[in-house]
Amino acid sequence: YVKERGKNDFMIYDQTMEQQSLERRILENALRQGIKEEQFYIEYQPKMNMSTNELIGMEALVRWKHPDLGVISPGKFIPLAEETGLIVPLGEWILRESCKQALAWRDEGYPPLILSVNISVRQLEDVHFVEKVQTILHETRLDTKWLELEVTESVLANDKSTISILKELQNLGIHISVDDFGTGYSSLSYLKELPINTLKIDQSFIKDIHTNKASNEIAKAIINLAHSIGLNVIAEGIELKEHVDELSKDGCILGQGYYYSRPLKVGAFEDYMTNIHEAS
Ligand code: C2E
Ligand code: MG
Ligand code: MG
Ligand code: MG
Repeated sequence: YVKERGKNDFMIYDQTMEQQSLERRILENALRQGIKEEQFYIEYQPKMNMSTNELIGMEALVRWKHPDLGVISPGKFIPLAEETGLIVPLGEWILRESCKQALAWRDEGYPPLILSVNISVRQLEDVHFVEKVQTILHETRLDTKWLELEVTESVLANDKSTISILKELQNLGIHISVDDFGTGYSSLSYLKELPINTLKIDQSFIKDIHTNKASNEIAKAIINLAHSIGLNVIAEGIELKEHVDELSKDGCILGQGYYYSRPLKVGAFEDYMTNIHEAS
């Protein structure tokens, strides 16, 4: 009986594995097709100066609109895109598209904003990455000082070559921001050698910053750390007035989150820029 049951368990397990790899292959093919057919679009989330309520920038966040499945969030497909290497062509499209949009807004007379784009480690491992960035900036006529790349801590702990690529990018005038800061497992020693401009406090510390002493202290420590070594600091995941108040008390004036706005499609972001301009 035990044996039989064991065998059944195994079969169930096996089916699940097969099912998973099948779903994965389907998704991977759909992703490949989607890149070819440009089924993606970008939403932009405002980055704010919380003390003046000024709009200072926007983060480009990719969305996939699958013809049958509808809108799929990046949490679902970015990991697969990274594993399969498809993030390289997709990431290039995201960068080109968002730089083009940033310049179009400039040409239409909207105030100048810094564009932040998320970059995966796989993209930094691409030997042509710096060249591609330069080509895109050249094509879109966007000055390097208006571009910021967001990388996660794991990228920085990675290896010497990705670090030297980040240095090259920074030498071009591009800003580098460490996304989800505080959630990586890397040592802090990299902060003194690395080409970084900004630490972005992970939203997990912001969520309960007003109710949880530990989160509050961690956020405070990150803010002090950034300032004491001459870096900018921004908080993400701001949903409440209480979050703004806590952060202001602790000296963090830059922030991003649903409290100000969700990520917006092009037209809605234009309305946001217009309204905030009129309000101030
Ligand atoms: P991230 O770069 O840390 O982006 C922040 C995520 O938090 C976004 O989710 C954003 O919509 C969400 N968010 C913003 N404000 C709030 C808030 O107040 N509360 C809460 N709960 N969430 C908030 P999204 O757009 O689903 O993106 C998830 C992750 O997927 C991103 O995390 C990033 O790691 C990745 N991703 C998104 N777009 C791209 C892209 O173009 N390229 C790459 N390589 N990765 C991307
Ligand atoms: Mg980001
Ligand atoms: Mg983040
Ligand atoms: Mg994140």
